[in-house]
Amino acid sequence: MIKFNNAFKISVLISCFLIFTIILVYFFQKIFDVNIYILTILLFVPNLLVTYFLLNKFFYDRIKVIYKSIYKFKGTSKITEIDIDHVEKEAKEWADAKEEELDQMKKDDNYRREFIGNVSHELKTPIFNIQGYLQTLIDGGLNDENINLKYLKRANKSVDRMINIIDDLEVISRLETEQDELDFQKFNIVELVHEIFDLMEMKASEMNINLKLQNESQGVTVVADRNKIQQVLMNLVSNSIKYGKDGGDVIIRFFDMHNNMLIEVSDNGIGIAQESLDRLFERFYRVDKNRSREIGGTGLGLAIVKHILEGHNQTINVRSTKGKGSTFSFILPKA
Ligand code: ADP
Repeated sequence: MIKFNNAFKISVLISCFLIFTIILVYFFQKIFDVNIYILTILLFVPNLLVTYFLLNKFFYDRIKVIYKSIYKFKGTSKITEIDIDHVEKEAKEWADAKEEELDQMKKDDNYRREFIGNVSHELKTPIFNIQGYLQTLIDGGLNDENINLKYLKRANKSVDRMINIIDDLEVISRLETEQDELDFQKFNIVELVHEIFDLMEMKASEMNINLKLQNESQGVTVVADRNKIQQVLMNLVSNSIKYGKDGGDVIIRFFDMHNNMLIEVSDNGIGIAQESLDRLFERFYRVDKNRSREIGGTGLGLAIVKHILEGHNQTINVRSTKGKGSTFSFILPKA
């Protein structure tokens, strides 16, 4: 059975039908001597119906199915008339959008794979450390006064590190699942900073660092998710302490910018080299891996800050000079 599945075969079919019609006209005219004009008019209707049927069956219906899928993709279910002129344009738009979606999915997939690789790598190090210390203790170290307590303390530090990583991963996971659920409210940003200083005071004094507020009179009521901004400020202040210098300062400043408030967290600590600034907010990126791990860093703090501020449609900015200190800043709308 011949399949009419391409333009040539369908053209042959229509041509055969036309020739058949012409023969029919000729035949009727010759045998019955019917007027050729009346005959042509009489044959016009069946001719029209057959051509319409063929076009519908072989092109229109099939295009309609493809078109329907495009409209389903566009979120519309109703198609009344198909305008052939637009089919190509719309199909191209649809294909471009799908290609973009596919690219994004591939990127997400790579990102996810890389992220899982990083998580397992980060957890592997403390786990192997703990295993090493425990094995040494089991193999007789437990009775060795020189190492037993020291190794237990080191194993405990590795456990702390794992807890820090899990805590930060939990924050990230919560942020991702509650992406659109920010609890916007009006609050006094200066009060919040005072609360944070109270919480961080001990950590700061351990490192002999002073926590200071400047331009606080300008601090007014802002609109944001209070808990999440608390997390942002905690992470920034905690970093300024961790990477600060002995006897140094951590200063939070406020700048009134008409409808907005600029908030800056500065330190005069170790600073960051220019080439590292672009990667600073990537998950697990650290300028100095060993130093960060040694002081309990996870490499996730700034990624969390960026994520939260993006949720507020804001960005986090940084300027820093190696050896002199760093300043992180962001904007919040005033109430
Ligand atoms: P970590 O847990 O390692 O501190 P973060 O995401 O908070 O992870 O920060 C990423 C890296 O950026 C840090 O490892 C550190 O190298 C650098 N960094 C962050 N804040 C500061 C700062 N105030 N001064 C100097 N370096 C900083």
